[in-house]
Amino acid sequence: MKLYAFSVRDDEKPYFDALPKRFGIELTESEGLITDEAVARLKGFDAVSVLGMQKIDAPVLDALKAAGVRFVATRTIGYNHMDVDYAREIGLHLFNASYEPNGVADYTIMMMLLCLRHYKESLWRTNVNDYSLEGLQGRQMKDLTVGVMGTGHIGATVIRELSGFGCRIIAYDVHPSDEVKKYAEYVDLDTLYKESDIITLHMPLLKSTYHIINKESIAKMKDTVILINCARGALMDIEDLIEGIEQKQIGGLGLDVMEHEEGIVHLDRKLDIISNRQMAYLRQFPNVVHTQHMAFYTDAAVRDMVFTSTEAMLAAEKGEKRRNQIC
Ligand code: NAD
Repeated sequence: MKLYAFSVRDDEKPYFDALPKRFGIELTESEGLITDEAVARLKGFDAVSVLGMQKIDAPVLDALKAAGVRFVATRTIGYNHMDVDYAREIGLHLFNASYEPNGVADYTIMMMLLCLRHYKESLWRTNVNDYSLEGLQGRQMKDLTVGVMGTGHIGATVIRELSGFGCRIIAYDVHPSDEVKKYAEYVDLDTLYKESDIITLHMPLLKSTYHIINKESIAKMKDTVILINCARGALMDIEDLIEGIEQKQIGGLGLDVMEHEEGIVHLDRKLDIISNRQMAYLRQFPNVVHTQHMAFYTDAAVRDMVFTSTEAMLAAEKGEKRRNQIC
């Protein structure tokens, strides 16, 4: 197989450099995105590998197909940046990556604790030698109810890790899991909204989950609720989050992802005029912790993102279908 890897970061390089020997493939690495010039260099390549910051939409898929590419893999778990229906229609095969859910689950728990213990306010104060305590009183996990929406790989791991804190755990998923029932009680969504002190989201971004956290759902929650999103930004309506914080319906937000973050996160934009006003406004509140979509970012995950996405393409070439084959 001849593979062209786009958007290769320095930390991915050692794993990409190992691919030719490990799998016997021919490889070209590039730091850039898929552009018209890059497509012109794709003649003779069977496969391309991409990251999540570029939309793999109909025009890009058409261009790849015309260049003779058959396989397109994203080195991410989420693949809502790819037009799967269109790829299927034109006969291109798409793949994603998999890695252990523990890194994202650890990060989710960290976000809960940062919000509960007013980390951002404390950091601001200590930076200016203000060591006062007023307003920083926290709550302990053991006394709280945590609601987990989506109990797949990451949600279930969050639940298992949370079980050590002694808190009550309730959960909601369209496909409940028997394993999760050992640690959490499945409830309907309204009960989860009403009874949770902390709500954490771990579902994919689908038509059915887009803006699932909005004015109406926030109105059903406790006034001090802490919301955590280490899944996908557009699960939450950013304007309704702002209103929820301003009206003190939301007590804290821990966001590793935010709506309209594409083109901003994972890039150094400090000298640019960034046009996402809602992100700039939301992230300045003292009770909003925001990070740059980095919950996945561990040594183990980066290695697995490169290897599993490539392995799935190699298997497809041999006529085998792995779980990382999307279509
Ligand atoms: P998964 O597919 O294993 O689990 C998703 C779960 O959501 C499934 O159990 C599914 O039944 C459930 N679900 C689907 N629709 C639902 C609905 N309407 N209501 C409730 N539950 C529903 O996925 P995963 O690997 O656990 O990933 C979870 C999320 O985390 C995804 O959005 C993924 O893109 C995101 N993610 C973020 C990062 C990061 O760095 N922040 C890293 C990896 C994954």
